[in-house]
Amino acid sequence: MSTANSTPPSSGIARLLFYGLQPALLICVIGIWLMDPSNLNTYLWVLLLVQIILGSAEHFFPARNDWLSSARVKMRNIVIVTVLLFVSSAVNSLYHLWLAAPLAQLRAELNLDIWPHSWPLVVQLFFMFLLSEFLWYWIHRAEHRWNIIWRVSGHGAHHSFKTLSALNFGLNHPLELFFLLLPSILLELIFGIGAVAAGAALLLVTQASIAHANLAMNTRWVGLVFTTNTYHICHHSADLAQSNTNYGCAAILWDRVFGTFLDQPILQAGTGPTEPTMWQKFLMPVREPEDTAVAPGS
Ligand SMILES: [Zn+2]
Repeated sequence: MSTANSTPPSSGIARLLFYGLQPALLICVIGIWLMDPSNLNTYLWVLLLVQIILGSAEHFFPARNDWLSSARVKMRNIVIVTVLLFVSSAVNSLYHLWLAAPLAQLRAELNLDIWPHSWPLVVQLFFMFLLSEFLWYWIHRAEHRWNIIWRVSGHGAHHSFKTLSALNFGLNHPLELFFLLLPSILLELIFGIGAVAAGAALLLVTQASIAHANLAMNTRWVGLVFTTNTYHICHHSADLAQSNTNYGCAAILWDRVFGTFLDQPILQAGTGPTEPTMWQKFLMPVREPEDTAVAPGS
């Protein structure tokens, strides 16, 4: 089925972006990481570069004009995402503090030194990317299946935006950072890998940014394995049946494997007909807005 986001535009640059932007970004990010895999500084400036490219493309060639946000809202979102990046760094440190020693012990006891270090780096990267997304698929599916997990993770806050852009990848409830970071950290510490885990995290964040972008983008071929924004916007639908699909925010492969894949246009995004204020979003773990339509039943 063709959707609003997957219809090729007629103008030159928009058409180029439609077919080339997602593959080009993925190739560039992987290439930059391969040049110096152990350099963790790469993470921040590549993330910034991806946001600037996607943000500029959205400004000049938006898929939906009514999703363009004002300069004030954009600035507010940039500030929130920046603050949450610092919180993510703190959550990452906490997890390492809590889990590094017990998981290293588990690795030794169960003889889990089985990571294929001899494989080409790029193959290790995709292997880690798919493993991490496999864990995230089930965590995300659980958030949409059980109300208690939906509440504790504050996942409703991420879904409550009525308009989406690349920046929405980072507009999450602070509690959700504990859920979002868990798959990569578990795999990193269980298998004792560093650089490959950081590379996969970079690929995950790039993909999550693309998945929320307000751009018309192709879904053929790239959408067999990777999540496209068409598929992820379907997951952000205010319609419960559409929202309970496409749980892979970076890889769509697991949705195809486990039967939760859907390619359908949506009428509106969000948790219901209206968008809660930022304060109401923050309080969603304890008080759900009355018009919420996509939360799992209690
Ligand atoms: Zn979700």
